[in-house]
Amino acid sequence: SFKALVATKGEAGPDLAFTDFAESNLMEGDVTVRVTHSTVNYKDGLAITGRAPVVRRWPMIPGIDFAGRVETSEHPEFKPGDLVVLNGWGTGETHLGAYAQKSRVKGDWLVPLPAGLNPDEAMAIGTAGYTAMLCVLALEKHGVKPADGPVVVTGAAGGVGSVAVALLAKAGWHVIASTGRAEEAEYLKGLGAAEIIDRAELSAPGRPLGKERWIAGVDAVGSHTLANVLSMTKYGGAVAACGLAQGMDLPASVAPFILRGVSLLGIDSVMCPKPRRLEAWARLASDLDRDRLALMSTRIPLTDVIDTARAIVDGKVRGRVVVEVG
Ligand code: NAP
Repeated sequence: SFKALVATKGEAGPDLAFTDFAESNLMEGDVTVRVTHSTVNYKDGLAITGRAPVVRRWPMIPGIDFAGRVETSEHPEFKPGDLVVLNGWGTGETHLGAYAQKSRVKGDWLVPLPAGLNPDEAMAIGTAGYTAMLCVLALEKHGVKPADGPVVVTGAAGGVGSVAVALLAKAGWHVIASTGRAEEAEYLKGLGAAEIIDRAELSAPGRPLGKERWIAGVDAVGSHTLANVLSMTKYGGAVAACGLAQGMDLPASVAPFILRGVSLLGIDSVMCPKPRRLEAWARLASDLDRDRLALMSTRIPLTDVIDTARAIVDGKVRGRVVVEVG
């Protein structure tokens, strides 16, 4: 058996306990991984607090991503000792997840740990950081460039936001970071932000079209914030939408689309096809400044996951949190 955080269905949200979990109770899969590191993403916060129905199988081991070492494998691409990363595919939702010393998954879900990253760094990036990279790739594919104007990042002091700021600044963008935490201005400048704006400028209902302020955006917030980001996007620009920290609604008008040719790019990390994952992880390994990654990440033991999960849904976590499972 091994240590695991197990969630069972309770009256008011999941009941949580650190238990000894029998390996024979792991779910089907052709690769068994010794999990060394995980992380706490916003979705993990939703799952553990029960604020959204993320968990759809009980009992569940929560945790949507991990890094670790292959223990046994019947998959042709992996052998014992290989270092691997997993993001999404229903892990921690419908398949037993990351907050455990072992996980058994489909080898097709795994990505080899990219050269140049260790497992700790991979989880400092985590699903939040890999999603930030997917957003940057989508903007690149659309064809927007730093010479066209600034980029705005919402929820900037959070996980997706912090990695997005660092990646975009490194790529030469003038990054406008939107945050509700004025006290994190120096932190955000340390990640490469050129300007800080108060998220209150974007979070209330706005006009269908506003002053053109940026050519691109990475939005982790949704709701009025995304509507306003779109309404202030310059002609021909694009916004990558990946999150819902303010809300799942989108109280917007079509004006930016039909009058300014603005594009809204949807980003999903969970079912993202493998070639795009490999591209994103390779680009993270080559492009993400390691000093900035260190600046944005903190470390906790597995036993602190529940408290951190509560903090992240309350918007109180800065940057990224690595869970040391090993
Ligand atoms: P996080 O670290 O908590 O970051 C979210 C940030 O949003 C907060 O730090 C805060 O930034 C801001 N925020 C929080 N509540 C807000 C509110 N009521 N109004 C406006 N801004 C608010 O979470 P994360 O792990 O980076 O995830 C960010 C979002 O992306 C989540 O919604 C998550 O579900 C989503 N996500 C989606 C995918 C996907 O596949 N599409 C993958 C990963 C994450 P400031 O304090 O700086 O204002």
